Amino acid sequence: MKWEDSLDKIKGVGPKRREALATAGIKTVGNLLSYYPRKYLDRSVFGSPELFCEDQEISLKAIVLDKGRLNRIRGNLSIYTVPLLWEEKKLSAVFFNQPYLKNTFQENHDYYFYGKVKKAYGEIKITNPQFVIASNPGKFFELTPVYRKIQGVPSSVIPKILSQLFASDLEIPDSMPEEIRLSEKLMDMKSALKGIHFPQKAEDVIRGTERLKFNEALKINMGIIASARDKSYSDIAINLFSGLKAFISSLPYDLTNSQESVIGDMVADLKSGQVMNRLVQGDVGSGKTVIAVIAACLMAQNGYQTAYMAPTEILAQQHGRSFRELLRNTGITVEVVTGSLKAKEKREILDRVAKGEVSVIIGTHALIQQAVDYYNLGLVITDEQHRFGVKQRSQLSLKGKKPHTMVMSATPIPRTLALILYGDLSVSYIDELPKGRKPIKTYCYNEASLHKILGFIEAEMSKGRQTFVICPFIEASEELEAVRDTESVYLEVQQKIESKYRLGCLHGRLKSDDKESIIKAFNQGEIDCLVATSIIEVGIDVPNVSTMVILSAERFGLSQLHQLRGRVGRGSHQSFCFLVTNSKSEETIARMKVIVNNRNGRKIADEDFKLRGPGDYFGFKQHGLPKLGLLNPSEELALIKRTKEIAAIIFESNNLEMMTFRNDVLKSFYIDIADISFN
Ligand code: ADP
Ligand code: MG
Repeated sequence: MKWEDSLDKIKGVGPKRREALATAGIKTVGNLLSYYPRKYLDRSVFGSPELFCEDQEISLKAIVLDKGRLNRIRGNLSIYTVPLLWEEKKLSAVFFNQPYLKNTFQENHDYYFYGKVKKAYGEIKITNPQFVIASNPGKFFELTPVYRKIQGVPSSVIPKILSQLFASDLEIPDSMPEEIRLSEKLMDMKSALKGIHFPQKAEDVIRGTERLKFNEALKINMGIIASARDKSYSDIAINLFSGLKAFISSLPYDLTNSQESVIGDMVADLKSGQVMNRLVQGDVGSGKTVIAVIAACLMAQNGYQTAYMAPTEILAQQHGRSFRELLRNTGITVEVVTGSLKAKEKREILDRVAKGEVSVIIGTHALIQQAVDYYNLGLVITDEQHRFGVKQRSQLSLKGKKPHTMVMSATPIPRTLALILYGDLSVSYIDELPKGRKPIKTYCYNEASLHKILGFIEAEMSKGRQTFVICPFIEASEELEAVRDTESVYLEVQQKIESKYRLGCLHGRLKSDDKESIIKAFNQGEIDCLVATSIIEVGIDVPNVSTMVILSAERFGLSQLHQLRGRVGRGSHQSFCFLVTNSKSEETIARMKVIVNNRNGRKIADEDFKLRGPGDYFGFKQHGLPKLGLLNPSEELALIKRTKEIAAIIFESNNLEMMTFRNDVLKSFYIDIADISFN
């Protein structure tokens, strides 16, 4: 069997199973071998009746006293109880819904059991344990891999196919030159994979993991070097900088120092003659839009078009308004292209884009998916980076002659990690908020105080301010009763506040026309209180909003809470944010404290990172990263550094073996990137 062979070739995998596996992305031998275990069961850890931890699975050796009792309760519900003696103590093994076990046990024989032991009402029980007769334990004490569940595939299937594979003449490609493999003390690929899937001892897992992580880190670094080498001289010449100052001084406010320095970075990039590829990272409300407007203005003054991609249609409209407002006196034309335009309108706009009559084109990803002919695209700006993957960026770039790119992001990333994640991208940080902003006062309350909080927002509305009430869900959920939803909260707010205040309700399931009109009404001050889901997380910019109430706040990630809170405090009024939660878990309390006590997005991300661990933070979806199997870039900086050195050596070498290896690694890097799809 070969790495790229289809699973069809394997006996005993029927079409149904194969389809279920394919749905989980497992179509080839290589896919299956790369489906690494989630964890390992180690049944060699024994407990004793005096000393066991209730939450931890342990092994124990016990004598079966008799064949036990089977109680059929109703339907297919049954409880089978077997009395045991565990080091002189009585214990029962309890099996739910496994009546077929009834005649399995032999009286007065020793068995090994593995599971969680619990004490209740003076009795000790082990529930649904795994077991084996002590005289013939077989593989019971070997490390047992546990795989993530795949719908429609029983858990025994994956190990079964894998063991068939390893029993056949499995060929595993490994082009890593011996020179590197030996100097880095790495296993060959076949042994590494065997160690991961069929470990004899813990060491096998450790050594196998080492090799696989090394591959991943090396691949990323090779990809980074390759794309940096790809950096080419730009044929989009920007020479006219004289109009820039005049435009900046026409703005309704002075730029902050941070904003000025970003403009400086951009000008330096454009003067360098190379293609600009810059990430602008700044907290919500730090004023990234105006940077985009200035860049677009500079492009227009030099005769080039700018495409601006927003993550949602609402945001595209919002930015359309901001751009038009700020470019009002310049004669620069701005158009918004989104999915909801009428066909005729859209055709007309696209026609003008193709003729070069429109300088700034704003839209959602529809901008890339449809055939937009630009007259001469000079700059692509994507907003809220975390919603776009590498693939989207490169697709859009193909539309012009390698346009300059700028990425706006509010997702804070430490500088070293930005390098790993984005490779050749240069980063500018906006580290200060515009002057005159008052810090948002943030509080955390129990649901019992909700009526008081509603009283507070009523008072704010009586002063002419607007307010948000945010819920995690759109409608009530049966399983998660305690989590608040916009439907019922809307009714509750309606009952509790005076009827003269105008309410609105906004969520993702509304038609896009309805969404637009609600946002428009809110922008124009025709809605006083908007009950919404996190759909408003990005982009609504209404300085008159003073208060945000976030219900079931424990359901949101910290960075998301920070992002949400960024929707208030955009004007000169004192603003407020109420986090409401009924959760008393220590973790929730710690997380709420982080938001109450911190204003800075990068600080919050750091804290979030500490509390949650890197798993979610480096979500593959979030960053549109090549898929990472085992590597955790935040923990493995040493490995990242080391593989970076090796990547450089490989690139410099003229040795045939090294060059073959380089091509293999790069090929797989590009396949990974191509696999990333929207959302
Ligand atoms: P974000 O970085 O979240 O995209 P925005 O660009 O939407 O932030 O800016 C937030 C608000 O700050 C807007 O109302 C904008 O007009 C205002 N703003 C931006 N820069 C400045 C500045 N230098 N001085 C005062 N207000 C500013
Ligand atoms: Mg923005």
